[in-house]
Amino acid sequence: MSDAVAWTISVGDELLTGESLDTHGRTIAARLGRIGVRVLEHRVNGDDREALASAIRRCLEKTGLLVVTGGLGPTLDDVTREAFADALGEDLEEDPAGVEHIQRWFASTGREMPAGNRKQARRPNASRLVANGNGTAPGFQGTHRGLTYLALPGPPREMEPMLDDALASIFPDATPRPTRLVRAFGIGESVAAGRIEALMERDRRLPVATTVSDSIVSARIRGESTADVPEVDRLVEEVLAAWSPYAFDRGERGLAGAVGDRCRDRGARVATAESCTGGLLGGELTEVAGSSAWYVGGVVAY
Ligand code: AMP
Ligand code: MG
Repeated sequence: MSDAVAWTISVGDELLTGESLDTHGRTIAARLGRIGVRVLEHRVNGDDREALASAIRRCLEKTGLLVVTGGLGPTLDDVTREAFADALGEDLEEDPAGVEHIQRWFASTGREMPAGNRKQARRPNASRLVANGNGTAPGFQGTHRGLTYLALPGPPREMEPMLDDALASIFPDATPRPTRLVRAFGIGESVAAGRIEALMERDRRLPVATTVSDSIVSARIRGESTADVPEVDRLVEEVLAAWSPYAFDRGERGLAGAVGDRCRDRGARVATAESCTGGLLGGELTEVAGSSAWYVGGVVAY
């Protein structure tokens, strides 16, 4: 499992013009990462049949998994099916089960299937449909030499459950990799990384990786399988010790939650006095469930 690799392609002009944010690259990489599949490259492609076919063709020479999202709608700018057929050198054929699904979908909303939607039941000859429980467009899946390819519709509430189903069938033995976070506040990333340099060596079997977001430095520690849990726990302790006294939690609680935990432990209470943050700090603290036990209140004044 830990050797499995993937390529991902998000399709849509709107992702290239800045109109909407490509979140699928991240969603898919995270879900694959959890089962030990590494994404080697992610691309964003416009609604351009030729460019997409050439991107797919490049992946067909590889061994691993290709996931393409978007461009499976009924309109002329939806070209993912055609691009796959071009790249595979196959024809598109209409899948009767797909037509039935789309008809049933429209019937359930009390409408006739518009003629244009029939196109969504088409898939490359050698592929099979992937059922869509939340929309009209089925996806499709197939293999070409060493590559398993998967095409899924763009809307996240359709794409995500279909992805989970497909991954369960493609990697039936996959188990979630144990993953832990250690987070620290008040220390810069380079200093934090310097303190755990030896643990971050890339050639370690389980290298620790750091990231920083909103001034919080995180170390991610990931095992390859559940057999690694003791080793992962040991690394967590090592990072916590190295980042002391800046480490504040193991990724479960967040900074405000960790403040609450400390207050509870010590019987302490917090009050805030804010000026130009206008109450943001008090807002963060009151977001924590049960914060009234240790948050007294605050004043916003200049
Ligand atoms: P499509 O399947 O290309 O017609 O996409 C339908 C809708 O799904 C788009 O209008 C977006 O709202 C959403 N969508 C498609 N691709 C992405 C993506 N890469 N990231 C986030 N949302 C997406
Ligand atoms: Mg589109």
